[in-house]
Amino acid sequence: MNELIELLERPFMQRAIIAALVTGLAAPAIGTYLVQRRLALMGDGIGHVAVTGVAIGLLTGASPTWTAVLIAVAGAVLIEIIRERGRTNGDVALALLFYGGLAGGIFISGLDGQTTSSMGRYLFGSITTISEGDVLITMGLAAVVIAFCLGLAPQLFAVAQDTEFAQVAGLRVRVYNVIVAVLAAVTVTVAMRTVGLLLVSALMVVPVATSQQFSRSFRTTILAAMLLGTLASVGGLLGAASASLADVNVQPGPTIVLVALACYAVAWPIGIWLRHRARLREPFPEGVVAPERCDEEHDHVHGPGCGHLAVPHEDHVDYVHDGHRHAVHEGHYDEH
Ligand SMILES: [Zn+2]
Ligand SMILES: [Zn+2]
Ligand SMILES: [Zn+2]
Repeated sequence: MNELIELLERPFMQRAIIAALVTGLAAPAIGTYLVQRRLALMGDGIGHVAVTGVAIGLLTGASPTWTAVLIAVAGAVLIEIIRERGRTNGDVALALLFYGGLAGGIFISGLDGQTTSSMGRYLFGSITTISEGDVLITMGLAAVVIAFCLGLAPQLFAVAQDTEFAQVAGLRVRVYNVIVAVLAAVTVTVAMRTVGLLLVSALMVVPVATSQQFSRSFRTTILAAMLLGTLASVGGLLGAASASLADVNVQPGPTIVLVALACYAVAWPIGIWLRHRARLREPFPEGVVAPERCDEEHDHVHGPGCGHLAVPHEDHVDYVHDGHRHAVHEGHYDEH
């Protein structure tokens, strides 16, 4: 324990925690819109394109973060244009773009005679070697992403939810679609050092899928996803750090993604149960199910706190019991 506290006092660890924190907030924020628009894998595609950006930065000696932002944004806008052109050849065009991005990046980094290890920092993340300058850039970019995601929430949500309706309502759908694509590209760059370009999409999607298990409104989904993303990224980082103290070599990037997946694994059955409950609460259509006498034995009289789910129904309360709903009516049970 003392060793962990000592480790947390080291500047490189503090930089890593800040980077994990802002990545965990920003990635699920934009990820919520991508999931809403059924573009869960868009972050992954942008990540592949960004590999070329990183390689150009490493080759030219420019900051790989900034070259990655530029190429990722260009790639995201291109993806949006291809998507808009329709589905028929869109799939293939996207595939070509993704493979081109990945292959181009690895190719360029080879030209330099660099080992793949410098590229590996960006492919798989390297949060513990992040520099002060990179932390500041990461914080700034994450702040921009979060500000747009929360500030433009009504518009972005309307466009993601129902494009045609948003168009009729006078929203400039195209502008907002491009904004989402650009924000996704910036987020990929933000998360690049934390979880790596190849796993970037996980942090954008998994916390959202988890929060969808128990939240109904868009507002709670996005806020809970941001909370879960932060828990996963800081938790995964600290988990990997503690493992390293025990001389177990664990990389923070994959640990963060596995923690996020573990949260999903816990939330999944809870989600099934909540949806089941919600269905029971829905009033049965009037007249479809006729009240029927139920002569089943009861060892108790249903009432508040009897352990059965209570459903308010017209002027009385039904109780859910062994898969059906019934209420006490003058000494007998009516099924509903
Ligand atoms: Zn009961
Ligand atoms: Zn009833
Ligand atoms: Zn009963």
